[in-house]
Amino acid sequence: MVPPAPEQHSRPPSVVREVRLRRLLVEPPRGELPPWDPEAAELANDLARCTIAAEAWASIVDQCRSAAQRNEETIGFLVGRRVACRRTPTKENRRATHLFVAITRAITGEHRGDTVSVRFTSEGLAQAAGLLSFGRGGRSEQLVGWYHSHLELGCFLSDRDLMTHAQAFPGDDAIALVVDPLRREARAFARPQSRALAPAGPVQVSWLLITDGVTDRPA
Ligand SMILES: [Zn+2]
Repeated sequence: MVPPAPEQHSRPPSVVREVRLRRLLVEPPRGELPPWDPEAAELANDLARCTIAAEAWASIVDQCRSAAQRNEETIGFLVGRRVACRRTPTKENRRATHLFVAITRAITGEHRGDTVSVRFTSEGLAQAAGLLSFGRGGRSEQLVGWYHSHLELGCFLSDRDLMTHAQAFPGDDAIALVVDPLRREARAFARPQSRALAPAGPVQVSWLLITDGVTDRPA
């Protein structure tokens, strides 16, 4: 008898939901400032909203560069997990907890791009879902955001990007990474953690590149 295929692998990636954090990391995110983000140094005064493993970053850049050679934008999902650290409350931000997203992998599936737009095919969404592993090391991987490229337009979220983000990732902490391989720029966006500002939509946030595997430290 053939066991039924695991159901979760046949589902397309769905909306990321907020998860209840089971533990707090005491240390804030650490890493190097991403060389492609021209404003990262200014933003770095805030705790980074995401860390990206160097291998994930390298595969995103490779994908964006090859698509650019074909004059196409490209797209994919950011995979990782949500973590929290304690922060020192300030007058501006009285929260004692800072949430950030540790991105460990980038995955993609079939998609169609041209010079100014890109979208997954429905098969591509299913392909990407099949690349998610469940329960590895006792932890499920989660879709924690998405990335796409712009061709010589610079890095921002267009009206259409904002709509995509709102529909696919209604959770507060999802990351939208935009990469312009021709300008060699990359910027990360997320909704502000302060509830008062969140309705304004995603803003540019600080991120860090991780080269020593610190994002995958066991609990
Ligand atoms: Zn865009």
